Amino acid sequence: MNLISIFFSNLLVLNSPFQLAFLIVLAYLALLWIALIIWVTRDSLNRSESLFFQILSIVLVISLNFFGVLIYLIIRPHQTLEQKYLTLVDQETIDAEYEDEIIKCPRCESVSHKDFFFCPQCGHQLKIKCAKCHKPVQVNWKNCPFCGIGAEVSIKKKLSVKNEKSKEKEPASNLKAKK
Ligand SMILES: [Zn+2]
Ligand SMILES: [Zn+2]
Repeated sequence: MNLISIFFSNLLVLNSPFQLAFLIVLAYLALLWIALIIWVTRDSLNRSESLFFQILSIVLVISLNFFGVLIYLIIRPHQTLEQKYLTLVDQETIDAEYEDEIIKCPRCESVSHKDFFFCPQCGHQLKIKCAKCHKPVQVNWKNCPFCGIGAEVSIKKKLSVKNEKSKEKEPASNLKAKK
């Protein structure tokens, strides 16, 4: 005699309503348990390619029931395989888009944008401003790639601009004294 026929034969000889209620609850829990096994099987297949993990998940639910499901929810991978794939594709698209806009700081190796003058992490000078066109030029470049002005000329021009500015700042009393 199998379990189902035992179940029904018991149902037929029930003499108390409590027994009937008990059996209904038992049947409900059994259905829930089967549903949970199916759900965990599907979910583990969606989340992992590892056969070991899939078998472990199913064994957990079969042996520990609801407690097993709880453990499964804690140990299961955060993302499904599909979500993982989509995240990877997104990241690759972003990387490809910004690859030519990204530079590495030679001092601390953190990533920064090609237009930045200073490293946001350590403050190391990455670029200087071209004296003529004011575009960011790498410190070790000999010529500005945007306007073609030589770095030496660029620095000289910067110095002359600075001198002019400092002259302007000289107080009027000094100028009078010179005259
Ligand atoms: Zn840095
Ligand atoms: Zn320039």
